[in-house]
Amino acid sequence: MPRFKNQHLSYSRLSRFEQCPLSFKLHYIDKKQADPGVPLRFGKAVHAVLENLVREHMEEEREGPLSEDRAVTLWQEAWAAGELSGIEVFEEGLTILRSYVRRQGHLDHQDVLAIEKRFELSVGPFTVLGFIDRVDRVDDETVEVIDYKTNRMLFTREEVDTSLQMSLYHLAARQLWPWAKKVRLTFDMLRHDIRMTTERDEDQLAAARAYVETMGRMTEEAREFPARLNSNCVYCDHRQNCPTYAAALRGERTVVCEDFDDLELVAQEREEVARLAKVLYARKRELEGVLKSRLEDQDELVLGGVRYRMFNAASKEYPLERTLSALASATGESPEALLAQVGSIDKKSLDALVKKLAKSIGKDRATLLKAELDAIAEKRFSQRFWAKEVA
Ligand code: SF4
Repeated sequence: MPRFKNQHLSYSRLSRFEQCPLSFKLHYIDKKQADPGVPLRFGKAVHAVLENLVREHMEEEREGPLSEDRAVTLWQEAWAAGELSGIEVFEEGLTILRSYVRRQGHLDHQDVLAIEKRFELSVGPFTVLGFIDRVDRVDDETVEVIDYKTNRMLFTREEVDTSLQMSLYHLAARQLWPWAKKVRLTFDMLRHDIRMTTERDEDQLAAARAYVETMGRMTEEAREFPARLNSNCVYCDHRQNCPTYAAALRGERTVVCEDFDDLELVAQEREEVARLAKVLYARKRELEGVLKSRLEDQDELVLGGVRYRMFNAASKEYPLERTLSALASATGESPEALLAQVGSIDKKSLDALVKKLAKSIGKDRATLLKAELDAIAEKRFSQRFWAKEVA
């Protein structure tokens, strides 16, 4: 194979190589036509609307809320341009955009420094190119870099705090706005209405530079580009050209362990099955999505001897006060004693509440409150199976 040379690097180029070298080869070396699926096209359309919405606000030098009506019009345009389909997906986009506008509240155009800002960073022999969704001025010494995400899954705190993308954005922001002593980095998780914020220190930034340089060289020196099946294969824009994905969809297996004393083989088969299961579950969701969109227009489908329908699943929630009061009057016990027997607060709701409170009581007090609540919490341990690739 002729020697491949990067014209430039970007976060997406590096993450593609990290996630699956074959996808990198198909995309950047073989230059195969990419075929983005619905989630990618949906994300792109939402990004386009937010870019135009905020850009218009800036260009017209407005102060006040973003226009919800304009967001709807832009969504209709982006929807058509992205060749998307399905009322459910259309409504999802509208919900995301409407709640973004509401969450944004009052916006002074002067507080937005840039939209879809292009940057070029020199890293060793490479030039890293990228675009930042939005950058705001927080105060005289702080800028906030915002990256929109339409992911269904929230990032973990560790993913946010170690994201290479955010480290690169920090370096870029410092270069573009040298007056900024502080750079706040925020993933705006649009589907969840949550902003996940992080920072970087000098050691992390130096590590990010070294890592980018190393990965850049690896992409140039690689001789082999193995396929790496993963749960995102179903969204891969080159899955149509990928023999490994095609084999996975057929459920093709290579390792079947017959001797359970051979732990190496047990582990090998377990990993193969785990990879296939991820791909096949993702494929099942994709196929169900197709059937669900057809069920929007008709009550049921009967295909291959199977009847498909949508139905409303009922679930019950018991309002706390009224439930406790009914229990108290039936038993004579105090509501507090009854609450101690049945009640506990789940971590996710509590975290969301503390986050909301931080706006009124301040971030520092909220952090203290969180520590206090964590000290009260009762820890429970359960055994879970854990498996992770070792380098
Ligand atoms: S479908 Fe999966 S294994 Fe195939 S190229 Fe894409 S990411 Fe790699």
